[in-house]
Amino acid sequence: MAKTAKTIFVCNECGYESAKWLGKCPACNSWNTFFEQKIEKVTENGVKKLKEKVEPKALNTYKGQEISRISTGFSELDRVLGGGLVKGSLILLGGEPGIGKSTLILELCDKIKGEGKVLYVSGEESAEQIKLRADRLSINNDDILFMGETDISVINETIEELKPKLVIIDSIQTMYSEELSAAAGSVSQVREITSQIMRVCKSKVITTIIIGHVTKDRNNCRA
Ligand SMILES: [Zn+2]
Repeated sequence: MAKTAKTIFVCNECGYESAKWLGKCPACNSWNTFFEQKIEKVTENGVKKLKEKVEPKALNTYKGQEISRISTGFSELDRVLGGGLVKGSLILLGGEPGIGKSTLILELCDKIKGEGKVLYVSGEESAEQIKLRADRLSINNDDILFMGETDISVINETIEELKPKLVIIDSIQTMYSEELSAAAGSVSQVREITSQIMRVCKSKVITTIIIGHVTKDRNNCRA
């Protein structure tokens, strides 16, 4: 049987979902903004893989466990995060372009020195540009590894092999998945990439920080 997957169509402007392709979005009235998106993967023989069934159990039978956190070295940031970076969690750092998100994160990468490897993935800047910033900030951490990449499948493969303590994605708007025809930075790409990274990092208990550009004017939200 043919390898098939169910698809839906998603508006790139507002995220509206439709079962069929539409020329005009009924939600935001944009034209030609619909892109195809796979919603479920079906195996070679056409049989859907069944998820393992999880039986509910009395909460009282579980043992409480303190969440282990890594201090960011910034007391304010630790406070916002509820005490530090939770291992295996995903944090979205949003803000207007140019306010210093990359600088803050680079400093954080230095402050957690000794915790393990940090993978800094940038689709925004070159290694030389980031090194220049690191030098200016007197950052000297051998555990920071740089990767200039925007293809999410390559990034995920690297994460699985390297198993770093922390992954930085700078920025979500520059990343893309080949499985989607929509442009990088579009609603469907951002959604797909975030869920793909989350899947890999959750299973490997890797903390991830995703940098995202947010602008007040929605028409400029693509980096
Ligand atoms: Zn729309």
